[in-house]
Amino acid sequence: MNNNRTCQQCGYTIRGRSDKRFCDDTCRNKYHNRVNTTDDHLIRQVNSVLKRNRRILKSICPDDMEYLNCEKNGLAVKGFQFGYHTHGYSGEKGMYYHFCYEFSYAFIGEGDQVMVRRHPKILPSLE
Ligand SMILES: [Zn+2]
Repeated sequence: MNNNRTCQQCGYTIRGRSDKRFCDDTCRNKYHNRVNTTDDHLIRQVNSVLKRNRRILKSICPDDMEYLNCEKNGLAVKGFQFGYHTHGYSGEKGMYYHFCYEFSYAFIGEGDQVMVRRHPKILPSLE
């Protein structure tokens, strides 16, 4: 049995049951609030970028349009961040589709063009 256990929040020596990780409820709550706050902040930041990316794709690809080609810079100017996507799919001819929820985009030509596609039903399986 480890007799030198310390509280994960304040670092003080813990007394009591051998499986205790915190000195009391206050320390346990502080610890979990700190961890959750950090995680939540990161998740909110990424979700915010993904939502903006989706909004931009939706704005250029109306409901009645399946796909279109556009300038990569045209998306970037609107605030699109190409490093953020929900998942990916390798298609034919070496095409790689970056997904943002029900939309996908793939670089075409010399990489300065982007094909944006709307997937109204089932998404391709995750890889
Ligand atoms: Zn403590």
